[in-house]
Amino acid sequence: MTYDPATTDPAAFDDQRCREIVSHALGLPSTRFELTGKRPWQMGGWLADSYRAGRVFLLGDAAHVTPPTGGFGANTGIQDAWNLTTKLVSVLRGHADPGLLADYEPERRTVGRITVEQALLRARDRAQVPIEDRPLLSEAAVAIGYRYAMPRDDVAADSTLADEPDRWRGEPGTRLPHLPFAGPKGLRSTLDLVRDGRYLLLAGPQGHTWTQAARELDPQGALLDTALLPAKITSLSVWPTEACGIGDRGALLVRPDHVIAWRTAHAVPDALTVLAAATRQAQGLDRPATP
Ligand SMILES: Cc1cc2nc3c(=O)[nH]c(=O)nc-3n(C[C@H](O)[C@H](O)[C@H](O)COP(=O)(O)OP(=O)(O)OC[C@H]3O[C@@H](n4cnc5c(N)ncnc54)[C@H](O)[C@@H]3O)c2cc1C
Repeated sequence: MTYDPATTDPAAFDDQRCREIVSHALGLPSTRFELTGKRPWQMGGWLADSYRAGRVFLLGDAAHVTPPTGGFGANTGIQDAWNLTTKLVSVLRGHADPGLLADYEPERRTVGRITVEQALLRARDRAQVPIEDRPLLSEAAVAIGYRYAMPRDDVAADSTLADEPDRWRGEPGTRLPHLPFAGPKGLRSTLDLVRDGRYLLLAGPQGHTWTQAARELDPQGALLDTALLPAKITSLSVWPTEACGIGDRGALLVRPDHVIAWRTAHAVPDALTVLAAATRQAQGLDRPATP
């Protein structure tokens, strides 16, 4: 039920009136259901000016409120939590610099802004208010097709911040593509390869130089897992390497939250040095000190 608070007091919706409204909507007599609660609620879109104040981080509806159009609210909040907790885990395990936590706000607030905008556009569209001035993105693009700003990689990149998930090709800042493949225990996804707060070095089918470098860099496997992409997946119309934007000897470094941190399309002469630098960058190490 919508009402105008300028002309109607929410107290006017007493139990009797609510029962009549529900009964009318259901076409059932009011004895056939139980009224367990009611409350006024204002639909709107809001974004916090900041997601962080010192040791306090905002996430979920505390950081962004969307109208229900699109069904984005809880999804976005859960993603905030995943982004933040994987960073906290890396810092608390001593793998990352506490400065990494500074990435939470720019990464997630950008997604929050796009999500609030898109949910508001949908609300206007549903109310038949013209929205020609702004593109309406698909639900998939808003929910999982976003891209965090990252240092530019060595393959073509543009500044789009949200697109259809299957249009991305392993660009750093985007989500690792979900590629199903047959594992020893049945069907698996590339996403399953990212485990327990660790980074993943995912190389092309001929990328043994990269997995070897990862083992030298992290002999105990405390920080990095490694895997090779399958050469071909029969159920896919693209090659796995193509979906990830790399050649057979290229590699991706994937963060614990499934986001691609770094990518190289090909083999390089000193894989260990290059991988060590990419990993340190992803861990928030070797960054210029903030004033
Ligand atoms: C009609 C409607 C439909 C929706 N549909 C969808 C959908 O289809 N898909 C989707 O993803 N999202 C949807 N949402 C949004 C989703 O419900 C919210 O985004 C989500 O519940 C927010 O979760 P949260 O944990 O951030 O906040 P909340 O769910 O608000 O949880 C915050 C909790 O903190 C408690 N709290 C507050 N202050 C204090 C305090 N001082 N001390 C202790 N506890 C406190 C509150 O009681 C509450 O339990 C919908 C929302 C509405 C209203």
